[in-house]
Amino acid sequence: MSDYYHAHRTRNLFDPKSKEPFRLSRSGLDLFVNCPRCFYIDKRLGTGRPPGFPFSLNSAVDHLLKKEFDIHRAKNKAHPLMKKYGIAAVPVAHKDLDMWRENFQGIRYCNGRKDREAFDAKLEFDVTLIACKGDDAWVEPAFMDARACLAASKIPKASDACDYCAYAAAAGEYGK
Ligand code: SF4
Repeated sequence: MSDYYHAHRTRNLFDPKSKEPFRLSRSGLDLFVNCPRCFYIDKRLGTGRPPGFPFSLNSAVDHLLKKEFDIHRAKNKAHPLMKKYGIAAVPVAHKDLDMWRENFQGIRYCNGRKDREAFDAKLEFDVTLIACKGDDAWVEPAFMDARACLAASKIPKASDACDYCAYAAAAGEYGK
């Protein structure tokens, strides 16, 4: 086992007897929507999926763009991209903005260009805006379902469509 992955976590677990609120992140809810069994094993039993590779480039672009927009937000002025695309608005200011960022909420989009001659130690990006119509009607029912899932005493069934459980079951047959 590596230094940064713990297969049997004992903290931040859902306790059905606790009266304290249980905090669920956006990615936690996403996990429930994708597979209630993986969600239960993680949040109730303490075994999370192993982490993937860190998205360093995505994080850097996200961080720098937010900084850039913050400059225009502080001046209550439109970002040049907004002007370029004819958006009559300014970056919105909100007292909870930093908190939302900490929780990794929001909409992000970036794409490295592949039409350059060589990597040359840098990636270039085309920056554009994509219209997105949000619909949060599913969120509250999903939270309710996620809570009911965690409060249940039985672990949900594995999805037949997911290859990982089939792999884990087959690999387990060989023993250690
Ligand atoms: S089917 Fe198994 S491995 Fe796949 S997402 Fe669900 S619990 Fe996880």
